[in-house]
Amino acid sequence: MLDVAAAMPGRLHALLILARSLVLTLLRRWLGRGPRGIALFRANFDADRLPPVDAAQRGELSSFGGCIACGRCDLGDAPRIAASAGAYPGTMRWVLASTRSMPDYDASTRALAFIDDAALASKERLCPTGVPLRRLVGFVRAQAAR
Ligand code: SF4
Repeated sequence: MLDVAAAMPGRLHALLILARSLVLTLLRRWLGRGPRGIALFRANFDADRLPPVDAAQRGELSSFGGCIACGRCDLGDAPRIAASAGAYPGTMRWVLASTRSMPDYDASTRALAFIDDAALASKERLCPTGVPLRRLVGFVRAQAAR
């Protein structure tokens, strides 16, 4: 029996697979079948632990990326880092490393048990670029809870 896939060049085979997927996707949409919108996003990404962000969260995402790694917000963190036995890496490291990967936000929130809103507020006053630490913490907690 002829193996069609082996007989045709790889590029043509890939194009046929893509064309078939496109036709099936368009047919499903046309027939109104399958999840759409947020439900489709969840179907695609829930297994990767990537929850969707809502409109309000999307609006504030750009304000979370202003850290210039100056280290000023680490002031006073030594006792916190020691008490956490390493779970709290210091504020700058938390901002730069622990908030970057949404699938790891559950681990990121465990670190937050070692810092409170008052300390975050005083660190916000030290931050030269105005990183909104309390709102960033709220975002991470909200996404971890999803
Ligand atoms: S003070 Fe602000 S800019 Fe400096 S390391 Fe902390 S979050 Fe980043």
